[in-house]
Amino acid sequence: MKDEYDVVVVGGGPSGAMAAKFAALGGASVLLIEKRQEIGTPIRCAEGVGLKDMDRFLDLQPRHISQNISGATIYAPDGTALKLRAKEGEIAGYILERKVFDRSLVESAAKAGADVFTKSSATSLIMEKDTVVGVKISRLDVEKEIRCKIIIGADGVESKVGRWAGLCPAIKLKDIESGVQFLMTDIDIDSENIEFFMGNQYAPGGYVWIFPKGKDRANVGIGLLGSKIKDGGRPIDYLNEFVKKRFPDGKIAEINYGGVPVSGGLEKMYGKGIMLVGDAAQCTDPITGGGIKSGLWSGELAGKVAADAVKSGNWSEKALSKYQHDWEKLYGKPMRVNLVLKDYYVDMTDEEANKLAHELAKHDFTGVMEVPDLVKILSKVDKKLLLKLGAA
Ligand code: FAD
Repeated sequence: MKDEYDVVVVGGGPSGAMAAKFAALGGASVLLIEKRQEIGTPIRCAEGVGLKDMDRFLDLQPRHISQNISGATIYAPDGTALKLRAKEGEIAGYILERKVFDRSLVESAAKAGADVFTKSSATSLIMEKDTVVGVKISRLDVEKEIRCKIIIGADGVESKVGRWAGLCPAIKLKDIESGVQFLMTDIDIDSENIEFFMGNQYAPGGYVWIFPKGKDRANVGIGLLGSKIKDGGRPIDYLNEFVKKRFPDGKIAEINYGGVPVSGGLEKMYGKGIMLVGDAAQCTDPITGGGIKSGLWSGELAGKVAADAVKSGNWSEKALSKYQHDWEKLYGKPMRVNLVLKDYYVDMTDEEANKLAHELAKHDFTGVMEVPDLVKILSKVDKKLLLKLGAA
């Protein structure tokens, strides 16, 4: 086992895999470590992604996709249904099979030249004069020090790497959704249509989702905003209540829990000898909670910056700041817009949401499957929102 690399990536999720792949493709020597014994399992995700850009990150094969999606129904608190549809004959996105997808991503990083260690945890950072110069790891219960020029923290929403480096302050309750999800079987669903249920009865400050994974199975989950959870209400109680009514005969085949950052991203995603990507940098979309694609993108951007820094012999904090600059160019505006949308949604009463849904229901949602398209219609209906979005 080598004890020195140019770049060490901590975490073998989608973001870490892309960071490792692009750093290796750029000529850096790369080690990716993952604490679990297997990549991709257990999943903590509803596995939904839009079509756009997906082929950039992986040559998607049928084994990576459990369901093509061509429509979405959003239910207001009073049951008013907004039916979003892809154009005739088109699909809008996928429900992935992340157990396979994540593994293929990491294999693509290995193919690009990265070494991959599973069952290997980062236990602390090695610092010299405020600069990260390596990481202590526990691999198969053996302690080891690995020196490197750059660490990329891709260790997810509970990122320790970010905290050790002083980049992640404690996340506020208004900036985190608590999620719980069942993989359900023997249920009656429209397999090409995802469903969202809004309102305080379902999910205060969040929503319930049904993401089909075939003709009679689906990820059925809930995300609740931390600051809206009252009187010890637990996400799983809300989900059980929903499932009892909607799928009384369904079976629960898996349960998974997890937090989703909805802050719109860390103000600073890099430091001396370090960058954070994906959930570790809170790159998740504040309105949908989706973090797969933004994580893949952040991994690619950070991996490229790391490789260039190594190649040029300059991995100073200023050199690594290019990553934040590139991220801002790509995702800064959409993140700010979606943060405004999140606050707009969270502050809305059920009555206001119903009124808005009644207005929206008059519109045609054919070809509207992405948030920016929905925003265009929302802004026509609510001029106050338009003003707020203008300032974002
Ligand atoms: P992760 O996938 O969390 O990977 C981090 C990895 O780091 C893990 O494998 C972990 O084991 C490893 N790790 C942690 N600590 C260490 C350590 N010390 N040493 C070594 N390894 C370590 N996003 C979507 O786009 N669509 C969805 O439908 C969707 N649904 C979701 C539903 C739920 C209930 C939740 C919780 C999240 C959902 N998300 C969804 C968000 C999405 O799952 C994440 O944004 C995405 O997984 C982020 O990828 P990542 O690589 O940054 O982090």
